[in-house]
Amino acid sequence: MLVWGTATDSDTIGHTPSFACSNCSTDAPQQIVRSYKWGHLWYLGAIIKKHYQSVCSTCGTGTDLSIKKVEDDFKPSYPFNRSRGWMVWVAAFAAIMVIGFVSDQKTGESKKNYLAAPKAGDIFIMDVKSITGSSDGNDYALMRVKTVTDDALEFEPSKFVYQRSKGAKKALDNNASEPGFFLAEPISVPRAKLTQMNSSGEIIEIRR
Ligand SMILES: [Zn+2]
Repeated sequence: MLVWGTATDSDTIGHTPSFACSNCSTDAPQQIVRSYKWGHLWYLGAIIKKHYQSVCSTCGTGTDLSIKKVEDDFKPSYPFNRSRGWMVWVAAFAAIMVIGFVSDQKTGESKKNYLAAPKAGDIFIMDVKSITGSSDGNDYALMRVKTVTDDALEFEPSKFVYQRSKGAKKALDNNASEPGFFLAEPISVPRAKLTQMNSSGEIIEIRR
């Protein structure tokens, strides 16, 4: 479960040199207390706000300190997940993008190769409305290559057409091997038309 939230924490990170407290005049080193707030998405977060004070150990009076000065002098470290956890999300997101890109490239590459040298049994997922000439909103079909000639491919179309290419892909993964999934009556499509359909994005995937 992913949980978004914020949290605060405070701790002592060091001491100042001795000086006289503005409230009680005690001349002593004071504690340097930091308090900070971080936002997180499932433990991984970023610092939203931080604040440093020197605190008198006699009367408890706090005096604000410059963030830059404290960080230059004390170099306080923050727990990785609270301060830089966001980097993990960025890296994970980038990895997902890269994986998606590589897999798209691969699908595109095999599609090109299969289209150049099709074989009987190849299954195309395509938007068939330019072939059927009509559309009722369900345009994605699976087309199984039956015969290959120099000029055309003869396809056995799937019995069902799908509203989205996703639905057709799911059918290809799960149902395409069922008997009767493809219709016996073939449809012939000129190879020149298939090339053109591929460049206009109507051929989604070719599975061999
Ligand atoms: Zn004091």
